[in-house]
Amino acid sequence: MVTVIERREPKPDGSHQGPVSVAKATKAKSQHGGGLYKPRTPIYPKLVHGRWRMIKWALLVVTLGIYYATPWIRWHRPEGLPQQAVLVDFTGRRFYFFFIQLWPQEVYFITGLLVMAALALFLTSALFGRLWCGYACPQTVWTDLFIAVERLWEGDRNARMRLDAAPMSFDKAWRKGGKHLTWLAIGAATGGAWIFYFHDAPTLWKQLWVGQAPLTAYISAAVLTFTTYSLAGGMREQVCTYLCPWPRIQGAMFDEHTLQVMYLHERGEPRGPHKKNESWEGRGDCIDCNQCVIVCPMGIDIRDGAQLECINCGLCVDACDEIMDKIGRPRGLIAYDTDHAVEARACGNKPRYDFIRPRTIYYAGALALVSGLMIWGLVNREPVVFDVLRDRNPTFVRLHDGSIRDGYTLKVANRTFARQTFQVTLEGLPGDVLKTPGMDATKGALTMTVEPDQVGSLRVLVTAQAQALSAPSVPVTFHLRSADIQTEKRSVFLSGAANTP
Ligand code: SF4
Ligand code: SF4
Repeated sequence: MVTVIERREPKPDGSHQGPVSVAKATKAKSQHGGGLYKPRTPIYPKLVHGRWRMIKWALLVVTLGIYYATPWIRWHRPEGLPQQAVLVDFTGRRFYFFFIQLWPQEVYFITGLLVMAALALFLTSALFGRLWCGYACPQTVWTDLFIAVERLWEGDRNARMRLDAAPMSFDKAWRKGGKHLTWLAIGAATGGAWIFYFHDAPTLWKQLWVGQAPLTAYISAAVLTFTTYSLAGGMREQVCTYLCPWPRIQGAMFDEHTLQVMYLHERGEPRGPHKKNESWEGRGDCIDCNQCVIVCPMGIDIRDGAQLECINCGLCVDACDEIMDKIGRPRGLIAYDTDHAVEARACGNKPRYDFIRPRTIYYAGALALVSGLMIWGLVNREPVVFDVLRDRNPTFVRLHDGSIRDGYTLKVANRTFARQTFQVTLEGLPGDVLKTPGMDATKGALTMTVEPDQVGSLRVLVTAQAQALSAPSVPVTFHLRSADIQTEKRSVFLSGAANTP
């Protein structure tokens, strides 16, 4: 069975009704002045209590807690390095994540992380539908918080509807003012928390108040304040319905075994009001109380079937379960279920929940592969990156005694948090002499020290007797050794025709 997701038109009470035909939509358009867009019908979600609401509250606290608190977590690193556990250090060109420290050249780890996040989202969607949208997406979490604030200032659904319909008064003004100020404060805290991920949080906190923070910090905080305020306070469900591409893409991950919030049509219909002590014979369990509709933050009626707007938040499940408890009918008229299970039940068969299916195997396999590669990459990450750059101009110099000299620049990136002292030696050139400006020439090894988390550079001049050279281009290997690190890099010693006797 294919899941059909349709766009619905809102009812006057803020909920939605059946699919809209083109003719109807055109007529509606002409009725509101022929503009391109229909004005938004405000939605006033009612507070609901229940299992899914509790889970949503818990996730709201956890996710927001992680977001706001993370920049303040300290992590011990050697002196001179940031002590912040998670930091995107643009100035120092490093990304710190607890014990992991990435250099700009290792941006592929970030790419890998994004690929992992995408695959995890694909897998979650194939298994549980829009679980991310309903419970953990920042838009959902902040909108939930903003609605809770709105409820605090203006009351629950009916009170909010009455207040909006009422003419302006002192009571309305201070309630609306208080709500918007609180929203702005949350927006500012959100934008403020964001910039702490890019600077040392305690230092930036002090600088912010005395006007000494970087201009980019003030601009970023202002932009984030505005976007949080407008997306979570003003646009709310419209972001999910019109701006976010994910609702359109996710359909490709769904099949008949995907868990979604569903109204059990066979059980609920025919619906209608029910009086106490009336028989349930010949009718459905839905008493048409509309509770599932008025709690919906997306303003839709789940009884109309699967819809693009539904974010699988489960609030209508809680609302309907509460009603079922009151009227003494079994819970689960609206429930998380699969098309396959519903169909099986309708045919009198036992429903089967298939979590292991070809698409979930592909997604899980790809996720395991990318995660494995990431872990392997991190475990085998080179503590020191060694590069040898040979002089290109001139490629070699003939000295007054007939010997040949080539110049090299050794670059050593010390990715460890300890100062490293290396011995630099050369292999492959008989009788070579190494020299670096400011130091005596040596036939043995040069010494090079690189500070923690820094790139060291050493200029090396290699001299060889022309007679000792077997060819115009002799392969050589530079060795770099410290107490616990050993690495090497190949290069060539060029002499051109100069070695010809
Ligand atoms: S229909 Fe139910 S699950 Fe879907 S968005 Fe509305 S309340 Fe949430
Ligand atoms: S809450 Fe349940 S009983 Fe009430 S209208 Fe919705 S589906 Fe019907």
